[in-house]
Amino acid sequence: MVEAVAVDLASTLREAVTGSVRFNEPLDTLSRWRIGGRAAAIVEPSSATEAAAVLRVMAERPEPIVVIGETSNMLFDSRGFDGVLMRVGPRMSEWSIEGRRVHAEAGASIPELVRATAEAGLSGIIHAAGVPGTLGGLVLMNGGTQRKGIGEQVVRTLIANERGELHAVRHDDLGFAYRTSNLQGQTAAILEVELELVPGEPAALIVDIDAILAERAAKFPFDLPNCGSTFLSNPAMYSIVGAPGRAIEEAGLKSVRRGGAQISEKHANFIVNLGGATDNDVLWLIALVRTTVQARTGFTMDCEVRHLSPDGRMRPAHEVADERWPDLRSSEG
Ligand SMILES: Cc1cc2nc3c(=O)[nH]c(=O)nc-3n(C[C@H](O)[C@H](O)[C@H](O)COP(=O)(O)OP(=O)(O)OC[C@H]3O[C@@H](n4cnc5c(N)ncnc54)[C@H](O)[C@@H]3O)c2cc1C
Repeated sequence: MVEAVAVDLASTLREAVTGSVRFNEPLDTLSRWRIGGRAAAIVEPSSATEAAAVLRVMAERPEPIVVIGETSNMLFDSRGFDGVLMRVGPRMSEWSIEGRRVHAEAGASIPELVRATAEAGLSGIIHAAGVPGTLGGLVLMNGGTQRKGIGEQVVRTLIANERGELHAVRHDDLGFAYRTSNLQGQTAAILEVELELVPGEPAALIVDIDAILAERAAKFPFDLPNCGSTFLSNPAMYSIVGAPGRAIEEAGLKSVRRGGAQISEKHANFIVNLGGATDNDVLWLIALVRTTVQARTGFTMDCEVRHLSPDGRMRPAHEVADERWPDLRSSEG
């Protein structure tokens, strides 16, 4: 946890943005999972130009910078983050629709965008109904449902690289694959996104959205803080063992608790925060699930959720779980 932030970092960030700059901020109240220590600083740019300026000034500084959206796919470390979180969120959330094209800032809310495009008679991202978060986060993760990903609809994006240089990057250069893009593992910020959708009938699209939302509400534990599906579905495993939730349930791990974290009673691929959970609690459950399912089925499940270390390393959470509990793997695997 960071107790004090250098005065020069404060003035550097305040010069770069007109939006909000806050220091020594708690992450448990910000994060979807309600887990995390404190971040040295959180900055919310109001435009692509401001976001690029933040990256430019941070390229000259020792503190790490990490871009976040709504944190619906992130696990913060309970020790905190000794750097700057740049939130591309509500202050960068405008969009416009022209014909079949949607031009959106990356902080646009996915649930709002899905509904607005349906009302405008456009189909193509209806599969993302019920997925929380921002457009930028969804593009980075190539998220969606029904094995579809938003990447199919992305025509181009506006990106600032780690030096704060703005570039338009076209679909073919974004490296979309199942639940990933080649922007993962970079400091780059997705700032704007252009989507190409297909015509549909608004009333029918709204009916589809409402049906998806009702189905998800019945299946998923929305009453407790969580980060959606913890483990990725692996096609080879799916065809033999089934979805991760089923494999975890059949391993007898549903409802297992560690500290304040629990493998959900409602859906075993969700880990919920019953109150006061730490990242260690969640990561231990992840290590337990991986070890047990691997021993039973021969398949190793990887995480979709990403963990942020105090030093700024952002990695799939299973990599951190394996690092913290290597013995759990070797003794039970
Ligand atoms: C209840 C629940 C259900 C979910 N269901 C689904 C589902 O069905 N399908 C699915 O695919 N996902 C699902 N998710 C996961 C999550 O909603 C998506 O991955 C979402 O798109 C993440 O967006 P975010 O803004 O919250 O990103 P964050 O969680 O803030 O960030 C995720 C990653 O994206 C990076 N990032 C975020 N914004 C930017 C940006 N502008 N530029 C560069 N990098 C950025 C972060 O650094 C991080 O690596 C679910 C999550 C929850 C909590």
